[in-house]
Amino acid sequence: MPQDDEIELASQQFEDLLNEEQKEAFSYLLNHTVFCPSCSNICPDGVVNVIPVLTDADEVLIKGKCAKCGSGVTRLMLLEEDAGFADRVKAIRNT
Ligand SMILES: [Zn+2]
Repeated sequence: MPQDDEIELASQQFEDLLNEEQKEAFSYLLNHTVFCPSCSNICPDGVVNVIPVLTDADEVLIKGKCAKCGSGVTRLMLLEEDAGFADRVKAIRNT
């Protein structure tokens, strides 16, 4: 088995990877659960410069900046995987 790398997802890849339900969960997590260490709180003004990353474990991680203070924030997005998820991951890794 080749080592899977972390991939920064282009917006089209991100669109293709998540189904509608996962996209809803993603925006909820993004707006309500990303913790900023500098603000010591969930990012009060949300997160900007968001880059979705497919991790080496095929999980979706976001990297971004706290909109209020500009600190870098990351969060693993725990999305419920549907039956086709692994195939869509494979399609992205093979492009
Ligand atoms: Zn902050």
